[in-house]
Amino acid sequence: MQLDLFSRLLNRVRPAAVAATLRVGGTELPVEFVRNPKARRYVLRLTPERVARVTVPRSGNRAEAFAFAQRQSAWLAKQLAKPPRSRPATEWQHGTEILFRGERVSLRLETHSSGCVVKFSDQSILLRQAATNLRPAIERHLWQLAAIELPPRLLAFAAQLQVTVQRVTVRSQRSRWGSCSRAGTVSLNWRLVQTPDFVRDYICVHELMHRREMNHSARYWRHVAEAFPRWEEAERWLKANGGLLRQV
Ligand SMILES: [Zn+2]
Repeated sequence: MQLDLFSRLLNRVRPAAVAATLRVGGTELPVEFVRNPKARRYVLRLTPERVARVTVPRSGNRAEAFAFAQRQSAWLAKQLAKPPRSRPATEWQHGTEILFRGERVSLRLETHSSGCVVKFSDQSILLRQAATNLRPAIERHLWQLAAIELPPRLLAFAAQLQVTVQRVTVRSQRSRWGSCSRAGTVSLNWRLVQTPDFVRDYICVHELMHRREMNHSARYWRHVAEAFPRWEEAERWLKANGGLLRQV
């Protein structure tokens, strides 16, 4: 009875939101309890603000919720070790410089009576609505361009190098420029329309040579060097401009 009174007092003294802390690795992690009558069980979540939030079901209590969070401390440690989510992509506006076919070009936004037009290099995109961030519309446009241009380019190289390809897809990979499956599907990153033509061609040849060797052995690189002598220059460009993929 006394203990019960004590814990009730303690509950009153403690701030409502952060009710406890949990030591995870070297971090003192605030723990929040959120009562949810609809919840069937305890649920633990790490918020972006780095608070362990435990959902407490109707039949549950804080002590059990805390014990539940304690049991999950290995999971929490793993979440804490993850790098924070990448920042939202930078916005593109009138005057922003972007890379197109390997060259820095600036975006020009023109307003006409019929709507807005974004222009860069030889491209022009009609916007149905005025947008403060031009990036989504431009990236959509670049992807469409890539879907039209990249597959025929790859197939031309395939014919020239006499390798077979089952399927070509154009995708938005986050960390690679292309890939080639054992079944013969080659996937190319739409951002290859942003790289110089010789870099785009190198990626096509790189993936096609995996039809001969599914690895990066010395023999594989001999095939690449023979088919595409500028491969080292292209690799250097990709290394120097790797941020193109990381910025998404
Ligand atoms: Zn490879």
